[in-house]
Amino acid sequence: METAALATFGEAFQGEIVPPGSANYETARSVWNAMIDRRPALIARCAGVEDVLSAIRFARDQDLVVAVRSGGHSVGGFSTCDDGIVIDLSLLQGVRVDPEARIARVAGGTLLRDLDAAAQAFGLACPVGVVGHTGVAGLTLGGGLGRLQRHWGYSIDNMLAVELVTADGEQLRVSEEENADLFWGMRGAGPNFGIVTAFEFRLHELGQTVTQGVLLFPAERAHRLAARVREWAPSASDEVMTSFGFGLAVDEPPSPPELAGRPVVYMSATHSGAPDEADEALRPLRDLGPLVDTIEPRRYLDVQTMADEEMAWGKRFYMKGGFLAELSNGYLDAGLDSVAAAPSPGCSITLWLQGGAIARVDPDAMAFTGREAPFWLGVEAEWDDRALDDAHVEWGRSTMSALQPFTAAGHYVNDMVESGEDVVRSIYGDDKYERLVNLKRTYDPDNVFRLNQNIEPG
Ligand SMILES: Cc1cc2nc3c(=O)[nH]c(=O)nc-3n(C[C@H](O)[C@H](O)[C@H](O)COP(=O)(O)OP(=O)(O)OC[C@H]3O[C@@H](n4cnc5c(N)ncnc54)[C@H](O)[C@@H]3O)c2cc1C
Repeated sequence: METAALATFGEAFQGEIVPPGSANYETARSVWNAMIDRRPALIARCAGVEDVLSAIRFARDQDLVVAVRSGGHSVGGFSTCDDGIVIDLSLLQGVRVDPEARIARVAGGTLLRDLDAAAQAFGLACPVGVVGHTGVAGLTLGGGLGRLQRHWGYSIDNMLAVELVTADGEQLRVSEEENADLFWGMRGAGPNFGIVTAFEFRLHELGQTVTQGVLLFPAERAHRLAARVREWAPSASDEVMTSFGFGLAVDEPPSPPELAGRPVVYMSATHSGAPDEADEALRPLRDLGPLVDTIEPRRYLDVQTMADEEMAWGKRFYMKGGFLAELSNGYLDAGLDSVAAAPSPGCSITLWLQGGAIARVDPDAMAFTGREAPFWLGVEAEWDDRALDDAHVEWGRSTMSALQPFTAAGHYVNDMVESGEDVVRSIYGDDKYERLVNLKRTYDPDNVFRLNQNIEPG
């Protein structure tokens, strides 16, 4: 970096420039996953769109690798880099709700919890993920799965428009009406095409209360439970979201102490319809006879932040994911074997029920691939001690290999930590991949935005 150029850049910059050695460099360079330890040459914490424009210009002039960061939750560490520049949007936060139009305008660096809180102030909600400190930007531009997904779709299904700064410093509004070709790609492969400084989302009416909780069962019952879930799921109300997971029971309430360390099946359920209809809608799951049942009416905002502490910054994390073709006995056997061999209770295999509103969107309507599958599949490992890195990463890899035969087409881009053209093709499929390459050639031919699941312009 040329010193004079840096000084000129710094003079006009309204936000904060954080070089190595400055007081808050260590904090500013850290990202959610403690496995990722990179040292950028510069962190540019933008205060507005002008800062984003000048950071891109500076990076290109100085030939710096560009990482773009909002919530910093990329599990693979795509929002930071060694020696390049991090264009950090975390100061660019804010939500404005138009309650009449039921639209939220959301600044690029906003966190989920702030979108949730702003929408709920008007009895509204936008489908987003399940941990409040995740960034809206990375989550949405990849897809955005969560508790309201069957009721109202993924986050991308509710994304009406984005304001984008491109590699050439153009400012584009991207929606069904404007730059529609790019809007197709932004929904699933968004980080490839520029920096989103603002989003517009459609909101839905949701009272303060949902009915939510967890059901716990011994693993020996997995096959019988799965048979019941297979029967129930096709007719389940869109207002019910459920997960079906395997893990090792921990020795803390509400899990019974005698189960500690043993494989268990857990199901979570959320009913987001009228509270007086929750009992009937959730009855088929509660009647399965769980050892533990924590389902009860809860404040939606509490539910949306209830995992924040458990998933706090600073954990070591590895994951793999896919979409499950069907809840088959083969899948159950492979999953149970893997979880029994897990190195710690931080390892889990989870399915999230799809269908409902997700399945009513044309699979070709956007770059995202995988919505036709009945379940999203996540293999996750979380631990604290770096000496256990290899054991957990190896468990994640071998578990996903064992489950691969049971998966359907597509991968959720936000789950993919490894990269390369094969990985990217497996996310989108060959046809969508080719279409994305064409978009990349138009909007980022020099591949300035390459720290992501990268579509190479070729
Ligand atoms: C604790 C935790 C919980 C999660 N829960 C869910 C969940 O419930 N549902 C779900 O779908 N996913 C979930 N995820 C995955 C999550 O969607 C991704 O990690 C996502 O990338 C996080 O977005 P971020 O803004 O925090 O990430 P960042 O690390 O800041 O960015 C992720 C990617 O997006 C790009 N990017 C960031 N900001 C912008 C921008 N403004 N414009 C353009 N590109 C940008 C970055 O360059 C990077 O490639 C979770 C992840 C974690 C760690």
